[in-house]
Amino acid sequence: MEKSKPEDMWQCQMTNCGYIYDPARGDKKGKIPPGTRFEDLPDDWKCPCCGASKQMFKPLAGPDSVAAQSVKCEQ
Ligand SMILES: [Zn+2]
Repeated sequence: MEKSKPEDMWQCQMTNCGYIYDPARGDKKGKIPPGTRFEDLPDDWKCPCCGASKQMFKPLAGPDSVAAQSVKCEQ
C-alpha cells in the first residue's frame, strides 16, 4: 500500500489522544474507505479514538502542523 506523506496525515489534538488519521488507511470504525483524504471526510466525522470533531485535527506537516508525537491509541 502506498505510504502517506506527513502533510496528508492529521493528528487529533485532544488531551490523551494521539490518534493520527492516515488517508492511506482510512477509518474502519467510521466506515471511511482507504484512500480518503482528510479534507474529503464528512463534516460529521469524529475521531474514532475520543470522538473529537474534525476541527480538533491538525496536519502533521506544513505551516499549520504539529510535531509528530507518540501515538497513544493507534487502531
Ligand atoms: Zn481523538
